[in-house]
Amino acid sequence: MATTIEIAPTSTAPFVEKTPLERYVPPDKPSLVGLTRAQLGTLLGAVGVPEAQRKMRVQQLWHWIYFRGLTSFDDMTSVSKELRAELAQRFTLDRPEVVAEQVSVDGTRKWLLRLPGETEGERPHEVECVYIPDTDRGTLCVSSQVGCTLTCSFCHTGTQRFVRNLTADEIVGQVMMAKDRLGDWPGATRRTDGVIPTGDRCITNIVMMGMGEPLYNLDAVRDALLIVADGDGIGISKRRITLSTSGVVPNIERAGAEIGCMLAVSLHAVRDDLRNELVPLNRKYPIADLLEACRNYPGLSNAKRITFEYVMLKGVNDSIDDAKALVRLLKGIPAKINLIPFNPWPGTKYECSDWEQIEKFSQVVFGAGYASPVRTPRGRDILAACGQLKSATEKLSARERMALRAMAMTD
Ligand code: SAH
Ligand code: SF4
Repeated sequence: MATTIEIAPTSTAPFVEKTPLERYVPPDKPSLVGLTRAQLGTLLGAVGVPEAQRKMRVQQLWHWIYFRGLTSFDDMTSVSKELRAELAQRFTLDRPEVVAEQVSVDGTRKWLLRLPGETEGERPHEVECVYIPDTDRGTLCVSSQVGCTLTCSFCHTGTQRFVRNLTADEIVGQVMMAKDRLGDWPGATRRTDGVIPTGDRCITNIVMMGMGEPLYNLDAVRDALLIVADGDGIGISKRRITLSTSGVVPNIERAGAEIGCMLAVSLHAVRDDLRNELVPLNRKYPIADLLEACRNYPGLSNAKRITFEYVMLKGVNDSIDDAKALVRLLKGIPAKINLIPFNPWPGTKYECSDWEQIEKFSQVVFGAGYASPVRTPRGRDILAACGQLKSATEKLSARERMALRAMAMTD
């Protein structure tokens, strides 16, 4: 049932920031972080490792990179000294560069990452990655693109220009960086500030709900998520990884077949005329086609339900009739429904539904047999802090976008 929205008081945590680079300076050596087993194998071949040894060497590297989280080849004690030296000469184990970290009083952490531009000399791009801890779990909200090609009218990212797809290593790099920062590697020292989950891991869940539309960057998202889910490495099970899509129908089946993670669908409206307005992609892939693709999602069962996300917009999609139509529409699909209080942003024409209306809506959904958790906004104080930063509007809005995501996605 519904939880109460609390607005956290202003954070007292320090805000760290570096001056943005004018021009991107590419690293002189590429990083191995984010490479698949096949790519590592090819690369070992290129540095002269005989074919017969490659599989074993790949397994060793995999363990050190993705299970232990090493940042130096020197510490790879099972790898011969010669090979360590050879690798160190040509490669690094670098993660994306963190240029800012903010910590909310509710424990939410946001990192601003600096990524290379596509061409040498181009200004670097920035994306954010958000960690939302709870007592029993820690969720990392990961980005798939810089900006988004889509233009959902209630989403701040939708108003930004699309810059580029992230590469698989930049997606894995977000997870590696977060694990570094949280001390979430075997034997590492855990952070003690903020909320830390009680289990043996800080990051237990991944949601592809940051900037961008993951199904428009499917190959990179697939490679990245398969690395993150690999049991010999980071080992976050596919059941704890959720990919959120605005409804790129032709890629839904591929995502299920090639990744096999949990699926969340940003539905937000029960009628095509309204969904066309809120999620313009609906004009290409209307609700009936979207729900058909959901019904055919590989592995769908009562134990592996699809989450339907529904943002609560005052006077737009939040009537009791809408709630009734929603449960009718989803009949027969193993589903969960997440009601998301709308997070306003500067210039938006929408308002968040009144709390009483969200509760009434939620009761209809609950009465139809669905658990209908309302996502409690998180990290509001650091969004406020962002709003106080005057310069670099592009960067400021990137932060805001991610804070919105962070608030939007917590169960
Ligand atoms: N592009 C993907 C994933 C990123 S958006 C998608 O659209 O699903 C993650 C979630 O945040 C989506 O459900 C999206 O609809 C929702 N969202 C976007 N802007 C929001 C806002 N201002 N308030 C609340 N939720 C928002
Ligand atoms: Fe893109 Fe998702 Fe925002 Fe729509 S809601 S503009 S698909 S990030």
